[in-house]
Amino acid sequence: MTHTIAVIRGDGIGPEISDASLRVLDALDAGLNYDFVDAGMTALEKHGELLPAATMAAIGKHRVALKGPLTTPVGEGFTSINVELRKRFDLYANLRPAITFPNTKARYDNIDLITVRENTEGAYGSEGQTLSPDGQQAQSLIRVSRRGSERIVRYAYDMARRLGRKKVTIVHKANIMKTTSGLFLSVARDIAKDYPEITSNEMIVDNCCMQLVMRPEQFDVIVTTNLFGDIISDLCAGLVGGLGLAPGANIGTDAAIFEAVHGSAPDIAGKGIANPCALLLGAGQMLEHIGMPDKATRLRQAIRDTMAARDRVTPDLGGTGSTSTFADAIIERVKNSP
Ligand code: ATP
Ligand code: MG
Repeated sequence: MTHTIAVIRGDGIGPEISDASLRVLDALDAGLNYDFVDAGMTALEKHGELLPAATMAAIGKHRVALKGPLTTPVGEGFTSINVELRKRFDLYANLRPAITFPNTKARYDNIDLITVRENTEGAYGSEGQTLSPDGQQAQSLIRVSRRGSERIVRYAYDMARRLGRKKVTIVHKANIMKTTSGLFLSVARDIAKDYPEITSNEMIVDNCCMQLVMRPEQFDVIVTTNLFGDIISDLCAGLVGGLGLAPGANIGTDAAIFEAVHGSAPDIAGKGIANPCALLLGAGQMLEHIGMPDKATRLRQAIRDTMAARDRVTPDLGGTGSTSTFADAIIERVKNSP
């Protein structure tokens, strides 16, 4: 069976890491066709707009996109193209895996967790933010809905079940934020009952941060609201050695976009030295999403083995390889794996 996905190669280092990633995907024989579309600076230069209708149509049609980092120029209408995409496709679930790989600056070597962050409500809504005219009083609104909580928690548990994950930790602050976090927690407790084979536990967000730093191996899947999820997922990226290996997925009912967490890195663009792994790991999440978890596992194992051997790895990992030789090294291992 073949799958067509939309590919946005992106700005800065985007084209380099995208091309490397697609070569690795091809080596996996995932049967993917690519529909190349533009967004960001590249789209502005080529088509005069940041998010062309053809790009939106391709994502809507194929329902899956692999996206390189995008630059949002100041004063072009959006604060961020990424936020705009999230809104337009109602990408309510933000998934951020944190996995340790060998020969990195990771603080632990046994982390394999996924943060599932609610991406559309909570403390990050734009409405209800006010500042008094004298600048002395600021206010914002936190909105949590039963529907919003249900769909994110349900997503986290279904994903855990699909990927054979054993445990879901519900992170909240219901002891203080009794209404908003309270509603989220009570919805989550109810949904947890539908998944008896998965261990569920609850943790207050401040304790969760301490536990993540001290005993991260106890976590498997974390599900939480927008603000807590934002902070926790970066904390986890730090635990495994920074943003260089951090992928992310934004999932909605009708579309899903897979990406690297890092930006377009203009300082190294065009030099051929960008590490393609964050985007490649995003591609791994994509393979899981479209029903090819075995290929995702093979991909991650090939990256792991390449890093363990320090074979042609890029300068950010202490090597002298290039984006494309690093990809070559991963491809060799992908081809030799069962
Ligand atoms: P943007 O404005 O698009 O966010 P940025 O320069 O802030 O671009 P970041 O991803 O935030 O991009 O980069 C922060 C630093 O990390 C930069 O010095 C960049 O070179 C480096 N970096 C980011 N991604 C990679 C990568 N894939 N490989 C190697 N270095 C990277
Ligand atoms: Mg940046």
